[in-house]
Amino acid sequence: MSLEDNIRRVTPYTPGEQPQKKVIKLNTNECPYPPSPKVVDAIKNADMDALRLYPEVDCDTLNSAISSYYGIPKDRIFSGVGSDDVLSMCFLTYFAGTEPVLFPDITYSFYDVWAEVYRIPYETIPLDEDFNIVPSDYSRENGGVVIANPNAPTGVVLGPDVVEDIVSHNKNSVVIVDEAYIDFGGRSALPLIEKYDNVVVVRTMSKSRALAGMRIGYCFGSPKLIKYLNDVKYSVNSYTMNTPALMAGAAAIEDDEYFRDITGRIIKTRADFAEKLKELGFSFRESSTNFIFAKPPAGAEASYVFEELKKRDIYVRHFKKPARIADHLRITIGTDEEMEILAGALKEIMG
Ligand SMILES: *Cc1c(COP(=O)(O)O)cnc(C)c1O
Repeated sequence: MSLEDNIRRVTPYTPGEQPQKKVIKLNTNECPYPPSPKVVDAIKNADMDALRLYPEVDCDTLNSAISSYYGIPKDRIFSGVGSDDVLSMCFLTYFAGTEPVLFPDITYSFYDVWAEVYRIPYETIPLDEDFNIVPSDYSRENGGVVIANPNAPTGVVLGPDVVEDIVSHNKNSVVIVDEAYIDFGGRSALPLIEKYDNVVVVRTMSKSRALAGMRIGYCFGSPKLIKYLNDVKYSVNSYTMNTPALMAGAAAIEDDEYFRDITGRIIKTRADFAEKLKELGFSFRESSTNFIFAKPPAGAEASYVFEELKKRDIYVRHFKKPARIADHLRITIGTDEEMEILAGALKEIMG
């Protein structure tokens, strides 16, 4: 026996870099705009004395705001410390069987990490050549299914009928639909929660609501699945979300006008930048997210372009694994000015 025999050892998820100096930061899909002024007010006017007390154990302030906004009852809503916390709790709760959980080979790279840390059997299913999910691949015995829609880091979206097809073929396992980017394109699977009790739709305020630093995520499902999720949460850490986050999240949800304005601007910038990328010879699928996953033209290695951009204080994301995406770069959509500077740098690097 050694000390290590008693220790749960894991290979952790690798987050995108958070450089301390000022750079053009297009590597972690954050929002280039500040949070809603209503969020700023909510935090400024917060009652500091209330911090003596534990926060709401049921996240009621936030869940009530989410409930009114989406028109979905509170017993179908669960909130957590970013969607990473929500997803991690979902893995722990819903994937306790013995059959493998299925998800694509190219998707959010946290899924296999949670499966490993919780000792969940899993199998990755290759996307096709064009990064499409083949729905029939998910119609077999499994312990659960996880689909990011739109997918990351590809930016490719599935139609709601395809998502429904996967959900309806898996009535004995939970299908998690991670909609971190749905506000930037595509149609949500949210209506499916009324029709199927095996689907959970996960959202985040980190991307489209400019609150990555607050750590707010939430999900929707059947009252039964939400109850199971709460039972596990209350068995791990009851007070997950802090009081300022609950208030900030409620304020963000309530300011729909601001939300529409910033998502609209990002979608517009994405269209303009896609044109520039095309002119520069990059190839990519149309994006339904706040990033573009693009392959540089022949002669320009993705890793070289990545390093050259970094030298110019422009950070994008380059994944070395799996090997078949190592020739791509994932570029977050920033402001028009930032994309202008990036396009200029790309021209110079590849010129
Ligand atoms: C960013 C992201 C998340 C995590 O978001 P947080 O709410 O910040 O934890 C989850 N899933 C996908 C696909 C993401 O890209």
